[in-house]
Amino acid sequence: MAEYRTDLLIIGSGPAGYTAGIYAARAGVDTLIVAGAQKGGQLTLSHEVENFPGFVETQTGYGLMEKMQQQAKNKGVKVIDDEITEVDFYDRPFICCSAAGNAYVAQAVIIATGASVKWLGLPSEQKYIGHGVSSCATCDGFFYRHKDVAVIGGGNSAAEEALYLTGFVDKVYMIVRTHTLKAEHILQQRLHDSRKVTIIWNSVVDEVLGTEEPLEVTGLKVRHVKTDKIQYVNVAGVFVAIGHHPNTDLFRRYLRLDSGGYIITRNKSNATDIKGVYAAGDVCNPYRQAVIAAGCGARAALEAIRYL
Ligand SMILES: Cc1cc2nc3c(=O)[nH]c(=O)nc-3n(C[C@H](O)[C@H](O)[C@H](O)COP(=O)(O)OP(=O)(O)OC[C@H]3O[C@@H](n4cnc5c(N)ncnc54)[C@H](O)[C@@H]3O)c2cc1C
Repeated sequence: MAEYRTDLLIIGSGPAGYTAGIYAARAGVDTLIVAGAQKGGQLTLSHEVENFPGFVETQTGYGLMEKMQQQAKNKGVKVIDDEITEVDFYDRPFICCSAAGNAYVAQAVIIATGASVKWLGLPSEQKYIGHGVSSCATCDGFFYRHKDVAVIGGGNSAAEEALYLTGFVDKVYMIVRTHTLKAEHILQQRLHDSRKVTIIWNSVVDEVLGTEEPLEVTGLKVRHVKTDKIQYVNVAGVFVAIGHHPNTDLFRRYLRLDSGGYIITRNKSNATDIKGVYAAGDVCNPYRQAVIAAGCGARAALEAIRYL
């Protein structure tokens, strides 16, 4: 158990957190990152990252995040493996307590805790994440050119993912639990108009099927919820689009959240309603791309530096 005092505390070690750290430390601000349970953030789940600028060769998400961490450390950022479990934003300096029993006392805080993907919860799904199972068509759709894929879900995100994928895949199966889509009418119309989309209604995924070496998805075992009839669907990629859970429960008491649970920041800024507290990355914006999270982290740091 220890007490850490710092000018700037960054909660989270994804692209937003590390980028904020690099900017703040370069400006001479004493900066500490609490990494959280998923050190390196969500990108560490990605097998291949091809859209983060500056890298000619395809990177693994883990490798890219290791580089960001090293860059932050080289600039003087302290990175601590711990998880914040409680915050007090009423008094100054701000005090954040952790799972390890540590207290982090800071003049300013950047929240970069991301938004967790809601997965189906199947062991076979977990096994193939990064090897055919994805949560992001924008990130991974490109790898499935001229192949057949499935999108799980029936809301706006699922419809958008499916429509995006029709740009390069041969066929998209949408697996929808009920007999209707929750997506907006215009999206439903576009799905209906697309010759590439087939909707499998009233159905859930029982298992993701695939090979061992190499680890690759080959299909889905799909069950009709009313008849229990099993159907096998041959696909090379599976996109789970049943939602995200922003990691904001800790901050609910102090900060305004929108209806989806995302932190509301001030217009054209990363400042929250509490002076000295900023939010950056997926925790406050819906784009869910590493480069955007990194950009948000840079802006939050610049604002925090000005505040300090
Ligand atoms: C499978 C997959 C593939 C992807 N592929 C791509 C891609 O190819 N290209 C792309 O641009 N984007 C991709 N993304 C999206 C990208 O990973 C995210 O947009 C990006 O990581 C968001 O960065 P962030 O820093 O906001 O949050 P995250 O990366 O989610 O990081 C959040 C951090 O907060 C920490 N944290 C959470 N709670 C606490 C707490 N209580 N205390 C301390 N720390 C905490 C976590 O440990 C984690 O380090 C992918 C996402 C997934 C899931």
